[in-house]
Amino acid sequence: MDDNKSLLDQVFGIGDKLYREMCAAKPSDHATLFHYVTELGRMLTHADRASFWKWDRHRHELWTTSATGVDRIIIPDHTGLVGKAIKEKRVVVTNDPYHDPDFNSSVDRETGYVTKSVLVMPVADINGDFIGAFQIINKLDGTGFDETEDVRKLSVPAMMCGIALESETFLEESHHDRLTKLKNRMGFYSDFSRRFAKSLASGRPLSMFMGDIDKFKRINDTYGHNAGDDVLSHVASVIAKACTEKDECYRWGGEEFIMLMEETTLAECIERTEKIRVALMEETVNADGNIIGITMSFGCCQFDPAKTIEENVSVADGFLYTAKESGRNRVVFE
Ligand code: GH3
Ligand code: MG
Ligand code: MG
Repeated sequence: MDDNKSLLDQVFGIGDKLYREMCAAKPSDHATLFHYVTELGRMLTHADRASFWKWDRHRHELWTTSATGVDRIIIPDHTGLVGKAIKEKRVVVTNDPYHDPDFNSSVDRETGYVTKSVLVMPVADINGDFIGAFQIINKLDGTGFDETEDVRKLSVPAMMCGIALESETFLEESHHDRLTKLKNRMGFYSDFSRRFAKSLASGRPLSMFMGDIDKFKRINDTYGHNAGDDVLSHVASVIAKACTEKDECYRWGGEEFIMLMEETTLAECIERTEKIRVALMEETVNADGNIIGITMSFGCCQFDPAKTIEENVSVADGFLYTAKESGRNRVVFE
């Protein structure tokens, strides 16, 4: 009875910490949520270690950020007991891992840890597609995991991780453009409120360009829509290559791109934008054998902290319009 009471106390402790963090002024992220819920699963099942694994089906990887005592592990998908549980869509238990051909002992070999029992519970999204897995290692009393009893205890934390993963993936996808892989307009507004607004408020200069491909409609009309898509991807990759840790770039719409540059004055922004303009002009795109040359026009501005985000963007947009009016393939900032 006392044991149950102290376990409940620990569960409430985790719930309380998680709830407070999520309501705190500094919004918590999914990584924090995974961390707490993974700890909850470990505690409920009396396991020594717990981890939650995400299946990135595009990269063919399984990865975790919330394993006990480890930073981040990435393994090829369909490998190890986690890969097996997701692939076979069922719980996998082994209480003799070193004799299990699916157990990957490389982490143990590197760290000296001795794995004695493992339980992996795959989790599905709302459509029933398996997207990740909860793994617990080494039952603390040494008896090994019990498929029925431990799965019952793990079901709520596993489900919470599944929902959190689905929400994280959905948010991530809604902030990115599929064609160019850059962030989109929603990503721009999210980044601005979470990151760039703070930088601006603390007095550091923030600058941006808005760029638009010149006569892009003619490229579509001459070479077809697929060639137009290739040109968009090329432009995105040139801009992304110029992006440092202090910048972020976005596909604002159709053939319009934005780059936000933290701790960058207008003069520095103009210089960097000019380099991108020249790089785009000097390279060509090979779209199905058609060699296409492109140019791009830009409007640059340094953010005025007294203006709203929309007002600042429309300043750059106004200069972009001037760049188009005055002959295209240029950077305008006044
Ligand atoms: P300007 O130099 O004045 O910018 O001329 P423009 O032809 O680039 O401008 P306009 O706005 O007339 O044309 C933009 C074209 O971009 C029209 C639209 O069909 C095309 N477009 C928008 N999104 C996509 C896309 O995802 N793929 C392709 N292939 N074309 C797109
Ligand atoms: Mg254009
Ligand atoms: Mg346009």
